[in-house]
Amino acid sequence: MNPNITKRNELLAQKVIKGLESRGMTGYYAADKEAALKQALALIPEGSTVTMGGGMSVHEIGLVKALVEGNYNFIDRDAVEDKRAAMLAAYDADFYLMSANAMTEDGILVNIDGNSNRVSALAQGPRKVIVIAGMNKVCDDVDGAMKRARNVAAPINAQRFGLNTPCAKTGSCMNCKSPDTICCQFLITRFSRHPGRIHVILVNDNLGF
Ligand code: SF4
Repeated sequence: MNPNITKRNELLAQKVIKGLESRGMTGYYAADKEAALKQALALIPEGSTVTMGGGMSVHEIGLVKALVEGNYNFIDRDAVEDKRAAMLAAYDADFYLMSANAMTEDGILVNIDGNSNRVSALAQGPRKVIVIAGMNKVCDDVDGAMKRARNVAAPINAQRFGLNTPCAKTGSCMNCKSPDTICCQFLITRFSRHPGRIHVILVNDNLGF
């Protein structure tokens, strides 16, 4: 990472962390992917039940691999036959891992979801949630974060999953009501009334989409 970008990210991350703390959430800054992995593992005691929603960033820092290979009860929803059971088990997990589609400089998380398992688990259920977010996810405000979620994250995810949505073809949001839409639910997390539940690790890198 260019040192000037790193300096800017460090400064911006401090602002985001302050914002998260004012909202009942906890923020951390990781200088690189390795530091992010170390921070995440420091939060998860061995023996914990851990699962996740879609989140490329979680894979990119090596966290899934570390949990699968380590002494954890990692529920891999892609590897089990009964998807519904895995989805329901997530609500009772010790830790739920995810990324964010976008977040604001003052610590608001913005996520969109088609199946809605990810946003529902962030809102309620798992004892703790760990969000892994590259600094590329940080936007000025909620409006900017929503635009990022719908014009960057959604089209890329729609293409990734081969969905028949306008954004998959045009690269930007057409505010569709396609049966394949991944914009069924928008969750804006502006406060947590459960201190210590939501942890956000900001990574000095471009992660996910
Ligand atoms: S509303 Fe439709 S076109 Fe817009 S981002 Fe969502 S899926 Fe794509």
